[in-house]
Order: sequence, then structure tokens, then C-alpha cells
Amino acid sequence: MREPVRVYIGLGANLGDPAATVRSAIAGLAALPHTTLLATSGLYRSTPVDSGGPDYVNAVAALDTRLTAPALLAGLQAQEQQAGRERPYRNAPRTLDLDLLLFGSARIASPALTVPHPRMAGRAFVLLPLAEIAPGLVPPEWLRAVEGQGVWRLL
Ligand code: ATP
Ligand code: CA
Ligand code: CA
Repeated sequence: MREPVRVYIGLGANLGDPAATVRSAIAGLAALPHTTLLATSGLYRSTPVDSGGPDYVNAVAALDTRLTAPALLAGLQAQEQQAGRERPYRNAPRTLDLDLLLFGSARIASPALTVPHPRMAGRAFVLLPLAEIAPGLVPPEWLRAVEGQGVWRLL
């Protein structure tokens, strides 16, 4: 059996009842095979970047998993499908988005999967919840660079 790997998942939703969807998606992550949910951030609200639509609800979860990165991605995509995810155009509003942010210290560049997630460093809606559960992974200068973005922690 493979050794477990510490991974971080970015969750986002802005259609339907996004807070409820994110909460049940966290339960779905905890139910993935060969996977343990270690920590979840609080929920954050963010204004859409590069698209219109309602505000997003975002969070980040930390898992230990024995799944391979492609198997984990497949599990995330199955959960997006279950939540009714559609992709009519890039950055379209969505019922659920699950991004694989970090897979241990792995660097992956395949057509279907890039890790670390190539756009995470510029996104406050990723960095703030990630810093909440793994402050050592988020350089202070990254946080300073996204300070002006509209992201608020919900109670
Ligand atoms: P962004 O990647 O900028 O956050 P998005 O989440 O809206 O955009 P999607 O439509 O959800 O993009 O995903 C497009 C494709 O990205 C997926 O089919 C998947 O194969 C690929 N992908 C590459 N790297 C990753 C990753 N680290 N996590 C999730 N999907 C990834
Ligand atoms: Ca995304
Ligand atoms: Ca995605």
C-alpha cells in the first residue's frame, strides 16, 4: 500500500445554495476511499474573478490520501458531476468546483492535471482559507499581493 500523502483541495460554489454545497462536498471528501479528512478552513465569500454571477463560497480542506493524484482528481470530478457541475464556458458560474491545489511535494504537469495548481498563488479565495489551516504553506508576500481582492470569512 502507498504511504499517505498530504493534499489540499480548494472548494468553490456560486450556484444553488453554495454554502450547503461546500459543506456537503467536505463530507464527500471525507468519504473518499483510502482518504482521511484532517482539517477544513472556515467558509469564505468572494466576488467572482473574470466572470459575473453571484458571489462564491470558498473553503480549503486538508486530506491524507493513499490515492494516486489521477485517482484523486477522478474522485473530485465525480463529486462535481454529482453536484450538477456544467462547463458552458471558461470561468462560468458553477454548482461546485474542486481543485487539487497541492499533492504532497509533487510537481505534476500532464494534460489533465497540473500540481501545484498553477493559479493558486494569485487567488485570495484560495490563499486565505489555505493559510488558515496551513500557514506555513503560504508565503506572507503572496498574502500581501492579494490584499485588495474581495474575500471575507463567513462566521
Ligand atoms: P481554474 O483551473 O483556473 O481554477 P476551473 O476550476 O474553472 O479553472 P475547470 O473547468 O474546473 O477549471 O477544470 C478544467 C480542467 O482542469 C479539468 O478538466 C482538469 O483536468 C484540469 N486540471 C488541471 N490541473 C488541475 C488541478 N490541479 N485541479 C483540478 N483540475 C485540474
Ligand atoms: Ca477552480
Ligand atoms: Ca476546477
